[in-house]
Amino acid sequence: DQNTFQAIISHCKEYGFVFPSSEIYDGLSAVYDYGQYGAQLKKNIRDYWWKSMTQLHENIVGIDAAIFMHPTTWKASGHVDSFSDPMIDNKDSKKRYRVDHLIENYADTLPAAEGTALVAQMEDLLKENDYDGLKALIEERKIACGVSGTVNWTDIRQFNLMFSTQLGSVTDEASEIYLRPETAQGIFVNFLNVQKTGRMKVPFGIAQTGKAFRNEIVARQFIFRMREFEQMEMQFFVRPGTQKEWYEYWKETRLKWHLSLGIDPAKYRFHDHVKLAHYADAAVDIEFEFPIGFKEVEGIHSRTDFDLTQHQLFSKKKLQYFDTEINQNYVPYVIETSIGLDRMFLLTVCAAYQEQDLSTPEKADSRVVMKLPPQLAPMKLAVFPLTKKDGLPEIAQEIMDECKQYFHCFYEEKDAIGKRYRRQDAIGTPFCVTVDHQTKEDHTVTIRYRDSMEQERIHVSAVRDHVLKATTF
Ligand code: ATP
Repeated sequence: DQNTFQAIISHCKEYGFVFPSSEIYDGLSAVYDYGQYGAQLKKNIRDYWWKSMTQLHENIVGIDAAIFMHPTTWKASGHVDSFSDPMIDNKDSKKRYRVDHLIENYADTLPAAEGTALVAQMEDLLKENDYDGLKALIEERKIACGVSGTVNWTDIRQFNLMFSTQLGSVTDEASEIYLRPETAQGIFVNFLNVQKTGRMKVPFGIAQTGKAFRNEIVARQFIFRMREFEQMEMQFFVRPGTQKEWYEYWKETRLKWHLSLGIDPAKYRFHDHVKLAHYADAAVDIEFEFPIGFKEVEGIHSRTDFDLTQHQLFSKKKLQYFDTEINQNYVPYVIETSIGLDRMFLLTVCAAYQEQDLSTPEKADSRVVMKLPPQLAPMKLAVFPLTKKDGLPEIAQEIMDECKQYFHCFYEEKDAIGKRYRRQDAIGTPFCVTVDHQTKEDHTVTIRYRDSMEQERIHVSAVRDHVLKATTF
């Protein structure tokens, strides 16, 4: 529900995960900055994806293409002509809406069957680009967006989502370039470079992570829909005719990746696309149940040979592969897996966030804990000397020095130990160790587990491996 979602947003800000961008100037709409723990959590998610894609698949390699690309790229890919959403403005309030969101939100307020019928009607009109029909539908249903009475709508227009800018100092049409709206095209244009220099044999994949930019019409819901965001994409090149089996393979493989993080499987579901994009012959979303409902986190698309063929056409360069097994030249087919890093971050945080009531008959108590997968937690270990004296900080510092070579550690000597534990619970640190007077005698420390809050004594020399075992991937 919205309250939980708001609590998570506040928590992310209060504990240094996510800040509104340029907050001292009142922020910038749908743009966010990652703070000290957020940046590390985001990096860990990216690394987890990168390792599972490239290191664990011998036939997938990673690249890092530029954000700026030759402008013809976006003509070939279809983005100049059709990467747009229909929008409508309220003439009085000047508020702008995405037509599909407007109607879908309204449909949500109706009884289920009626809502579904309305959405189906909308999808037909969208498919035919029947803007008059869509506007009539909005007016007939008196969709008002919180305004009472009749709304004075503008006509519906297409709004291209790409940001454009000028390359160099000369401003003419030829120098107009775009910030990439997806990372995939950087992979397609490098297909032959990688295939040839890496001596790759079909089937093989190219993976990439990086920023993408979309001038979203309505960007709401925190980091779920941003104007600047990061994608993790992989294009898998296959022999024509084998795309269906590879599509199934990647569908299952990607769900397994999500489940490998130990997140409740009941919160995941597949959503097959009925209405396919012009380039796709099959498409499915992996959806996750956020506090605001089931939403897309990742898309798996069977993109046929559309992209490579288009680039071949526009660049007049052959983008083909000679398959020695069947002695044939062809343009490979592509299965794509595309996940938003920021959306995966939001998923991770939503799945981890818990407000726990720890009250006993004697005492009211509660805590906020982020049960982050230990592999992804920004801090792996916190080290606390029980007191600031008697040589305890020195022993704690020795543990720090040994462990920080291997993983992120946090040191703190202020405040009561219970308070220090709670702060680590709030940022999701899976382990805390406390150095006390007994440590000086028998070289043991107390290790405290985030999820169970249980404690046990282990030898100082065992701390590092204990943490490594649980957090390495
Ligand atoms: P939507 O329907 O939500 O606009 P989409 O279907 O256009 O998304 P794709 O183009 O398939 O999304 O992009 C792949 C992934 O990139 C999405 O599954 C999502 O995780 C992420 N993504 C897309 N747009 C945004 C955005 N504006 N902010 C954050 N992540 C995004």
